[in-house]
Amino acid sequence: MRQASLLLAFVLFTGCGVHQRNLNRDDLHHRCLLLTTNDSESHLDGPRVGTPLRFHYQGTLDRIAAEKRRQLRQRPQGVLLVSAGDVLQGRYMARKDRDRRQAARRAWRLYEQAGYDVGVLGNHEFDAGPAVLRYALSGLKTFQIVTSNLDPHSPTLHNPKERLYKTLWTRRCGGLKLGFFGLLTPTTRNISDFGDTRFSDPQEPVLAPARRAVAALRAQRVDVIVALTHLGLRADLRLARAVSGIDLIIGGHSHTLLRKWKIAGQSVVVQSGERFGHLGYLDIKGRPGGGIIRAASSWRVRPIDEHMSPDERMKTIVSRFRADYAVEQIVGHRTKAWNLKGRERRRYGRLVAQAAMKWMRTQSGLSDKVAGAVLNMGGLRTNSIYPAGPVTDLEIRSIHPFRNRPVYLDVSGAELKEMLEHACTKGHRGHLGSRAILAGIDMRCNGERPRVRYRKSKGQVVGIAQRGQRVQRLEVAGKKIDPEGRYGIVTNDYIARGGSGYWWVTQLRRRCADGEDFQRRRCRHLPTLADVVEEAVRAGTFGEP
Ligand SMILES: [Zn+2]
Repeated sequence: MRQASLLLAFVLFTGCGVHQRNLNRDDLHHRCLLLTTNDSESHLDGPRVGTPLRFHYQGTLDRIAAEKRRQLRQRPQGVLLVSAGDVLQGRYMARKDRDRRQAARRAWRLYEQAGYDVGVLGNHEFDAGPAVLRYALSGLKTFQIVTSNLDPHSPTLHNPKERLYKTLWTRRCGGLKLGFFGLLTPTTRNISDFGDTRFSDPQEPVLAPARRAVAALRAQRVDVIVALTHLGLRADLRLARAVSGIDLIIGGHSHTLLRKWKIAGQSVVVQSGERFGHLGYLDIKGRPGGGIIRAASSWRVRPIDEHMSPDERMKTIVSRFRADYAVEQIVGHRTKAWNLKGRERRRYGRLVAQAAMKWMRTQSGLSDKVAGAVLNMGGLRTNSIYPAGPVTDLEIRSIHPFRNRPVYLDVSGAELKEMLEHACTKGHRGHLGSRAILAGIDMRCNGERPRVRYRKSKGQVVGIAQRGQRVQRLEVAGKKIDPEGRYGIVTNDYIARGGSGYWWVTQLRRRCADGEDFQRRRCRHLPTLADVVEEAVRAGTFGEP
């Protein structure tokens, strides 16, 4: 110990660059400890009322904060706490509009207070849309976000002075100069609310920016190149094989707990599970000229449990946040479980569609016009069983994280049939389209008949090339459909924008519940489907699956 501190004094006094050759193998001055987590998804304070059992993890942010401090005491300047994306989800992001922005900003700030140094954006960071993300990130001071594959000129996340996030970041750690770049999964375009955000290379959103980043970091003469990725393990391995020069890939998104690191191409690849179940310890020894010495470096994961004592100050801060933002309210009772596993979700989805129809009928001028509903399965996000018992507001908001809003379609019978032809494109023989949830509408698809085919120009749908013939026996409100008749159909803003391939719907007469044209504000001023469900549960009118 005494020797180590003498050495430390010597190096600090003389500067380390010139004296590298005098330092022994275990010299702390060329070692850096990267503590890593990924996909914590707002699970910063342990389990809550009504949380399904499989989500009961011990891991909490206060324990991570304490562990980083402990490590820093042993190696001042030699520890970084790193996040590989999906900091937020569900709980805090699924709140009502009025306090969602503040909750998001404070949640990010909690990670900063716990000592996080650097992180990459994950897809869930976009769940409340880029405007909320922008507001949340602009409050950060020491937690640096690095993401290298976004177009910096995307309107909402426009980033002229690199304040919101950087494309590259360098930092000294234990005498090594680390160069970081970050990669967000391209699927964010489809699985979250990406809004007007764009990737810098839409055709090659991962490899092209990665190659550029490696070249740029090399030019800055960093010792170790670190990719923080939110791509999933398979894509990490592909990245390692396709792009040379990346020393470390610290990944997330696939929620993989790697007890041993993987080697692919020239890279070491690690990932540390999910939801603060484990903390990763990537202890690297680097060559001052570049690269890491694998034989002298190591990776291990450790459970974040009662053996890792919490930081009391952080514990107080988290519980204050929890009191302000996440008081889970019991809004009703279910006598039967809600099963949201796999295709079983359809039953719950039908209740939502019915609740949306009932709600739409309470709006002025629509009481006798609403005849059916078409929603998408993809809007229901959890994959759990909620047992009989109390229903909480946060449960409902976790099931419906996308803030989808009911939209009213005023359509002819022929137009409705065309819309449902799309629902039948992926249908199996004799069954409904796999991703559509219907209420008030009875239909069968015949998968052997020709399906609707679209006309495209430059990759965009511009029309229907061939009409579908798969819809069989179409009834609305118990009566065979009349092609000339008028029907009021409830859908959501996602489908109304042409989501999930419903291009035809963008051609229909779309209105919000108050009669406003959909295009004006996309109904953002009105309640969400989660609000509608919550209201129905409170009123005791939400049915049973
Ligand atoms: Zn993810």
